[in-house]
Amino acid sequence: MVSITTLTHKSVNCYLLKKGENFLLIDTGFSDKRYEIEQDLKENGCNSETLQLVVLTHGDTDHSGNCKYLRDKFGVKIAMHKGDSGIVEKGDMTYNRKEKPDKYSLLFRIMSFFGNEGDFEKFKPDIYLKGGDSLNKYGFNVSILHLPGHSAGSIGILTQEGNLFCGDLFVNITKPQLHYLIDDLAKAKENVKELKEMNIQMVYPGHGKPFPFSKLSDKL
Ligand SMILES: [Zn+2]
Repeated sequence: MVSITTLTHKSVNCYLLKKGENFLLIDTGFSDKRYEIEQDLKENGCNSETLQLVVLTHGDTDHSGNCKYLRDKFGVKIAMHKGDSGIVEKGDMTYNRKEKPDKYSLLFRIMSFFGNEGDFEKFKPDIYLKGGDSLNKYGFNVSILHLPGHSAGSIGILTQEGNLFCGDLFVNITKPQLHYLIDDLAKAKENVKELKEMNIQMVYPGHGKPFPFSKLSDKL
């Protein structure tokens, strides 16, 4: 059984998974929230001995903001999909994205304009993950799903119990739905179709509250 702790700072969710003595951190938050995240890890008993891996659901700087810091501090490796590696290596969120995303809500554009991203520290990931990979060798029986749509290198992390950490494919701030920024809508919808064929119980999004997968609209 994997236990899940949600670490939320400035509307971004990071998830700390624990199995036995091992920890896995999914996403790292904004760089200006690093001390809060570090404190969270400490309070949960997670240290450089027990933190096995950091996995990024995608490259955007609100999720990858503390990778370099945590790697330097904890000696932990950073794993992500290659499709987003240019985002973190160059600090450029337009990397590997269309000039005009298929879906980009006005509200989100306004929110992003006023959002403070802090000073992003670029880095090169240590490990590239792809769909079908498992994290068994880090002590976690979870599988990696490639879920392009929000970004080309977006991935999901699925536990045996059917908990899906979906990054920014879905969001649940007002209701469970596709994220406000979807670069490739056709691919995102294809993911939803495939996910419906799998055993998904709860969805843990990058922003907003966890929700049962069954609460997603049938129209998606
Ligand atoms: Zn995000």
